[in-house]
Formats: sequence, C-alpha cells, structure tokens
Amino acid sequence: MRGRFLDSLTLGPRRRRRAMMRQLRELDRLDAQAAWTGPPPSRRRAGGRLGTAVILLVVVALGLWSFLVRVMGYDVSVLGDAFRPGGNDEKSAGSYEFMATQPVNPRLPVTYSPCKEIVVVENDTIAPKGTDGIVEESLAEVGRLTGLRLRLAGTTGEQPVPDQARGERQPVLVAWTTPDRIPELEGDVAGLGGSTAVGGSFRSRYVSGQVALDAPQLGEILDRDGRAAVKAVVLHELGHLVGLGHTDDVTQLMHGENVGRTDFGIGDRTGLRAVGQGRC
Ligand SMILES: [Zn+2]
Repeated sequence: MRGRFLDSLTLGPRRRRRAMMRQLRELDRLDAQAAWTGPPPSRRRAGGRLGTAVILLVVVALGLWSFLVRVMGYDVSVLGDAFRPGGNDEKSAGSYEFMATQPVNPRLPVTYSPCKEIVVVENDTIAPKGTDGIVEESLAEVGRLTGLRLRLAGTTGEQPVPDQARGERQPVLVAWTTPDRIPELEGDVAGLGGSTAVGGSFRSRYVSGQVALDAPQLGEILDRDGRAAVKAVVLHELGHLVGLGHTDDVTQLMHGENVGRTDFGIGDRTGLRAVGQGRC
C-alpha cells in the first residue's frame, strides 16, 4: 500500500507533467459539462476554486517529495520492498547492522557510491604462504553481493595506520600486518576493517578505508583450520569496509566472534545488498 503510494508520486518529470495535463483536461471537461447542465454561476466559480486548490496541493506535494529525494536521500528503493533496513526485526531471516547511518535518517546506511569504482591495493609483503589470492577472491565476492565495483589494482608497500585513522587517503588499503604495528590486533583479534566517511549534516559517504590483517595469527589459523577460515576473516573485514557493523546474530559472518562460519549468511547478504544501493 505504502509502496504503491510512493510509486504513484515518483513518476518521472515528463510522466508527471503528462499526468497533470491529463488531470487538467479532465477538470476542463468537467467544467464544460457543468456549464451545459447549468449550475448557477456562483457554484461554478466555487468549483473552479476547488480545482485550483487541488492542483496547487498536488504541485506542492510533488515539490516536497522531490526535495526529500534529492536532499535527504529518501527514495523508493530504500522505503519500498526492495530494501528493508536491518536490525533485530529480521532475526528470523538472519540479521545485519550498518556500521554507520545517515544523520537525517537512521534507516539509511553510510555507503560508498555505487557509481564509482573502488580501487584497492594490497600489501602482501608478509602474507602467510598459502594465502595467495584470498584478498582478490574476497573482493570479487563482496563486489558480487553488493554490486559495488571493487577492483584490486595491485600491490603496495604502504603500511596500515593504527586506530583506523588513515583518513581519505586513496586507494583503499588491505594490508597483512602485525600487532606490533597495529596494537588493536593484539590478543585474538585477527583483523580490522572500516572506511572513512565524508559529508555534511544531510548525507555522508565513504571515500576510502583500510583492512588490517594479523599475518602471524592468520598463519596459525591457516595451519589449524585451513584456507576457508582465513578467507572468512578477510570477508568479514571487507564487510566492515563496505559498511556493515557487527550483528548479535551468531549465525552470521558479521557476528563479532567467528563461531565457525566461513561464508556470508542470509542476513549478511541482505545487508551487503543494502550497502550496495547507496546514492551516487
Ligand atoms: Zn568485526
């Protein structure tokens, strides 16, 4: 019901104009009919004023709607069925959370632009033997599930920075590193991931980010649990990079602690689709 209401309001400008012209013609026709059947002149004027008021109301409503769409980022894809915001109301189908949401609308995630390629470089200088290709495969998978164009452009010697404080520096960095360099990796934290958002009080978007992978620990995980377990960590961190936060749902890969899951669950996938539908 709500979706249909929104759809009817979001006709393209030309269709909208045509629809309005149709309405005007219909009003003209009714006016002409009224003239034939001859209500008193004063009532005809009142009818005309009512018609004008209705048209004005429609124009104001359409103007307000296009303002909301343009400035505040509401649109059919986020309010309609195509996209349901995350949270605990989706427990039955697996849940997800966003890393950050838009200031004007806590239902909308902060995202990368789906219209721009997200270029990524990898520092694999100390990547454990046997992890070749994991970052590239994981980027391809997150790209497929989000629709975002993530491209591994090559390798780099750039080091990650602590506290995820890399700022807007481009391109996105995925680095195999150590807890000596990134203290947050101490203990059983195997990876970190996130992006930097820029924007005003209406709308923010991600422009760059970094993933830091604990090379020594992931080497142990590789030996003990195999390649899929290492890839699970990389996928989880890339999930953060594109805008997913931790969910309480232990059955999802985006749960804060991995309990043996090696691929994205239903909630994760719904969330990934959502962060791929940001504005350009
Ligand atoms: Zn995490």
